[in-house]
Amino acid sequence: MIKVRFAPSPTGFLHIGGARTALFNWMYAKSVQGEFILRIEDTDRQRSKKEYEEEILDSLAWLGLDWDELYYQSRRFDLYRGHAQKLLDEGKAYKEGEAVLLKMIPQGIKVYDLIRGEISFDTSNFVVCDDKGEPVLDKDGKPPLKDEVLIKDDGSPVYNFCCVVDDALMGITHVIRGEDHISNTPRQIVIYQALGVKPPKFAHLPLIMDEGGGRLSKRTGAAAVSDYRKQGFLPEALVNYLMLLGWAPGDNQEMISLAAAIKKFSIKKINKAAAAFSLDKLKWLNSQYIRQADTERLADLIIPFLKEKKYIQEDFDRQKIKNSVDLFKRRMDTLLDFLQRADFVFIDDFQIDPQALEEHLSKNREKEFRLLSERFSKAEPFDAATTEKVFRELVTELGMEASELVHPVRVALTGKDIGPGLFETIVLLGKEKTIERLKKAFKAEKG
Ligand code: GLU
Repeated sequence: MIKVRFAPSPTGFLHIGGARTALFNWMYAKSVQGEFILRIEDTDRQRSKKEYEEEILDSLAWLGLDWDELYYQSRRFDLYRGHAQKLLDEGKAYKEGEAVLLKMIPQGIKVYDLIRGEISFDTSNFVVCDDKGEPVLDKDGKPPLKDEVLIKDDGSPVYNFCCVVDDALMGITHVIRGEDHISNTPRQIVIYQALGVKPPKFAHLPLIMDEGGGRLSKRTGAAAVSDYRKQGFLPEALVNYLMLLGWAPGDNQEMISLAAAIKKFSIKKINKAAAAFSLDKLKWLNSQYIRQADTERLADLIIPFLKEKKYIQEDFDRQKIKNSVDLFKRRMDTLLDFLQRADFVFIDDFQIDPQALEEHLSKNREKEFRLLSERFSKAEPFDAATTEKVFRELVTELGMEASELVHPVRVALTGKDIGPGLFETIVLLGKEKTIERLKKAFKAEKG
């Protein structure tokens, strides 16, 4: 039985890198009908926070990465102390005050990493250093080996030790984690040796950089998963994007569901080279998932955003929201875009784009707008076909090009010169609002 684990420390929110690690572990577990364990590494009582822990669990659940077992290291201190005691009893570890240290023996250690191939370490390089990072020499002029602290002076167990004890006790077969943990691997192997347990297999995932090759910043993707959720990304889009950070389904395929990805996933196909995070790509994927998404579901997701913006109150018209979603679904990268592009559906004091105003509403359109209002008031049924017919008849009578009136009307009704089809927009607004805005527009010009 294959068992993997995701082991976040709740000392910060779940970021893109952590989420990708969780996802790759999860996909691997599912691809081999194994188990995915979630282990909260909260041994650092000062830096671990309940709010981070909750955000991590919520975000994983939101992404659809369910776990088979959940552990908290803070509840397992007795286990770690027990194992430290065993090593003391066997003479493999020694005490210094209250701290417990494992004697480091000089040896070469080879790790076969499933992504990176063989990596060699030499524990003779693990030497005691001073504050400046310079090796401290003993009386023979040699730097003494740095023994591995298992339990600190204050009685709290150290990450490398807890990690090994847990991975061993939980029967973890594969440790899949970020490349930043490579340097911990030989130290952990030394602890496995001392405990007399066979180490699991290791796979270290490539780093994630921004597009310029630098470190991820908040702006370039290091934001929390919960922030992406707040910005209106769909979980399936984020999951799909995370997959592509170091792995590819093949055949240039970019959009792929979790279910399909599981069938194709293998650790061997993970890239060694660093992956570059691209917000544009993530937005593109999100726009694709939004257009495919069920309108009812999108409406449910958008309603809280509309409420927060005070665009709707408790007694909102759900049908109107659904109609708007249908109209804008193909025109948004994120759900937040909807608030910007469809604001005019919900509020009367929407922003008017100054350039659109200058370009399309600077001429006096009083006559045209008044005539159009009159015709619209008689249009029955007030649907796209009828309003378009009325509109076209009027421009022909006035000897104008349709486009000469389309743009001014659009700006008057929506404040923007781009958007979905004009007549669908008019129908969405309804007869009353359409006429009211046309009248207001020519009054505003005169005023
Ligand atoms: N708690 C460690 C971290 O958050 C886990 C590292 C590991 O997977 O071994 O980075």
